[in-house]
Amino acid sequence: MDFAERLAKERRARLAAERLLEHKSRELFAANAKLGLHARALSDEIVAQRQVVKTALTEAEQLKGEQSRFVQELDRAHTVAVMAERRLWDSINTIKDGFAVFDGNQQLITANAAYLSTFSDPEIAPGLAYVDLLCIAAEGENIERGDRTADVWVADMLARWDEDIIDPVTVQFKNGTWVRLVDQRARDGDMVSLALDITEQMRIWAAIEAIPDGFVLFDREERLLACNQRYRDIYATSAPAIVAGAKFEEILRYGLAHGQQIDAKGREAQWLSERLFQHRNPGGPVEQQLSDGRWIRAQDHVTPDGGRVGLRMDITHLKEQQVALEAARIAAEAASRAKSAFLANMSHEIRTPMNGVVGMAELLCDTSLSEEQRLFAETIRSSGEALLVIINDILDFSKIEAERLTLHPEPFDLERTIHEIAMLLQPSARQKGLDLMIDFDMFLPTRFIGDPGRLRQVLTNLIGNAVKFTDSGHVLVRVVGLEGNAGSHDLHITVEDTGIGIAPGNLAHIFGEFNQVESQSNRKFEGTGLGLAITKRLVERMRGEIWVDSELGKGASFGFRIALPDAEDSEEPRLPNAVKHVLVVDDQFINRTILERQLVPCGITVTLCRSGAEALLALETTTFDAIITDHEMPEMNGLTLAARIRAKGVDTPILLLSSNPAQAREHHGAEHLAATLQKPLLRADLYRRLQSLAVPVLEPAPIVDTASDGHRRQMRVLTAEDNRTNQLVFQKMVRDLDIELVFAANGVEAVALFESFKPDLIFMDISMPEMDGRDAARAIRALEGGKTHVPMVALTAHAVDGDAEGILASGIDRYMTKSLRKGAITETLLIYCPSFVRPICAAEQAA
Ligand code: ADP
Repeated sequence: MDFAERLAKERRARLAAERLLEHKSRELFAANAKLGLHARALSDEIVAQRQVVKTALTEAEQLKGEQSRFVQELDRAHTVAVMAERRLWDSINTIKDGFAVFDGNQQLITANAAYLSTFSDPEIAPGLAYVDLLCIAAEGENIERGDRTADVWVADMLARWDEDIIDPVTVQFKNGTWVRLVDQRARDGDMVSLALDITEQMRIWAAIEAIPDGFVLFDREERLLACNQRYRDIYATSAPAIVAGAKFEEILRYGLAHGQQIDAKGREAQWLSERLFQHRNPGGPVEQQLSDGRWIRAQDHVTPDGGRVGLRMDITHLKEQQVALEAARIAAEAASRAKSAFLANMSHEIRTPMNGVVGMAELLCDTSLSEEQRLFAETIRSSGEALLVIINDILDFSKIEAERLTLHPEPFDLERTIHEIAMLLQPSARQKGLDLMIDFDMFLPTRFIGDPGRLRQVLTNLIGNAVKFTDSGHVLVRVVGLEGNAGSHDLHITVEDTGIGIAPGNLAHIFGEFNQVESQSNRKFEGTGLGLAITKRLVERMRGEIWVDSELGKGASFGFRIALPDAEDSEEPRLPNAVKHVLVVDDQFINRTILERQLVPCGITVTLCRSGAEALLALETTTFDAIITDHEMPEMNGLTLAARIRAKGVDTPILLLSSNPAQAREHHGAEHLAATLQKPLLRADLYRRLQSLAVPVLEPAPIVDTASDGHRRQMRVLTAEDNRTNQLVFQKMVRDLDIELVFAANGVEAVALFESFKPDLIFMDISMPEMDGRDAARAIRALEGGKTHVPMVALTAHAVDGDAEGILASGIDRYMTKSLRKGAITETLLIYCPSFVRPICAAEQAA
């Protein structure tokens, strides 16, 4: 080997070595780089791993925290649950009702205090079997088992729990409590038992059962909630349908189908809808009759929840009583009417002989008698008259009671009527020195349509009482009125007195029957105590109203209000237009006022003086057309005044008003008077008198039927009267009158005498044999044929029932009731034939 070669070889080797080295260093570098990378990755991973571990650690920490929190929560939850359970039990224990749970083996698991105390036996506690519980309860003798033995009761109670649906059962304890056991199976075989205390309810039900009426309760859907046994008993026919939950309509339909309701027969559908309507719109009670004849009163009320509570009362007994009562009432009324009719008839019968007694006594008084005989005869007459007044009262009262009193309205003059009554009562008033005054409203008409007879009776009683119960002072009748409906007046009539008065306690029943005010002072007054009762009823029959006002010891004021139609023939009184200035002298304020009120509206100037002295003074300065003076005045009376006036040379006409004109005329001074007039004075009369003072008017010439010889003939009076005594009485009563009197003994004779005797006036008895007064009157009117009209006056023995109507219908003009009075006969003659009677009356007055 050459060197070169070796060198070359060496070089090549070196080169190769160098290249290898370079390669290796490159490799190393690469490896290094790789290693670096790895190392970096590794450290990254470690970091990451560390992070994971750290996180895991943190999480673990957190978990641990949570776990402990959870444990705490659990603890708390447990506590809460325990608390809740305790609370629940506390609550369950506080409720009054018992609560218990039995397990599938019927062993008591738990029970509240109420449940345990229901059985009130310490042995009864959780763990006890149901059967043992029942046995303890049954044998403990604190349960009302009725007639069941303890074993039977326990068996019954156990058997209940075997049912699919366990019905509640009510158990009554001997301590008075009632418990309703409601048992229900729970899902896991447990039995939940409730023991509800229903003592309160049972008490109420016991009360409801105790009431004698049927009681029923429906809900708002009209379903029966409950009813008592009485309800079932009442509707015994429907009882099968009366079950809780049944609809009211179903119960009704059941009853209808079984014919329970009598009043539904044949109209069931209508009855049903009516009854349902009543139930839905409860109002007053409804009465229904059942098929067995019983009567039921049903009353429904709405309950607060919209249901109905109903009461059913058996009113059969009540109905029977009602029927009996009604029958008794009808019988009593009939008896009362019969009694009244009997009384009316009896008084009528008594009146007839009384006519004879009073009439004859009156005639006897007119004959010449010794002092003693006169006293006896007067006593017979006055007693008879008093008796007649009483009989009249009884008769009137009976007639009103028997509903047989009818009113007979006709035109009449009210002022005149009152005036006539005042005239009748004037003598009694005069005796006591009472002033009887009438104040008739100037602006009122005087003629009205009413029953003058009955009004007269009312006024006579009131004015009569006023006079009777007044010893001094005055009695004032005042009539005022307002225009009412179409042609009528509402009249207010008061009668005021200054008498003994009526105690407040007696005012209330003063209008009752037989009510005389009992007092020492009153016993001296006679009367039946019927007057005011009759008066009140009469006023009421006239659709009026009566009242009284009084102060004991001061006086009384009776008043009544009636509406009367105006009479068409009403005419204003003719006013005294010739007189311009009048002097009125009266010590009484009321009298002066009345006169002033009567005169001023006529356009007359009135000067009022309280005494004669004042009047004389007035005459010094003034001239009057007329002087009106009262008679009785203190210091200077009317007659003295008249004399003094004339002595002064004054010749003005003087009118004297006196309660006793006859007596006044006899005294000195009377010769100066233009006229002496009876007090109270009728307004029309006053006007007429005043007018005649100024313009002397001739009295109307008497319409005298002169006979052919020119002589004034006697008035012809025909009296039909079958009773001999009455004929005699009548004859004697008219014996002083200048008349020609003929009697007919019956209707037939009366008709015949009408033709032959040609009477001016006929008095006609009503009940006569053969032909009665009515038929005779009809026959006479037929004969007249409307061409003439002889006045006919019926003589009735106090008309009972329709009498008066029948009498007037037969053509009779008016009727007079017996007993006959001389005054009444004269008055009648005066009314119908004044021209005949006037001279006789004048003669009588003079006598
Ligand atoms: P009598 O028939 O007794 O008068 P009345 O019914 O007319 O019956 O009157 C009943 C009673 O009323 C009288 O008894 C009397 O006590 C009382 N009385 C009636 N009017 C008056 C009066 N004007 N003043 C006082 N008392 C009177």
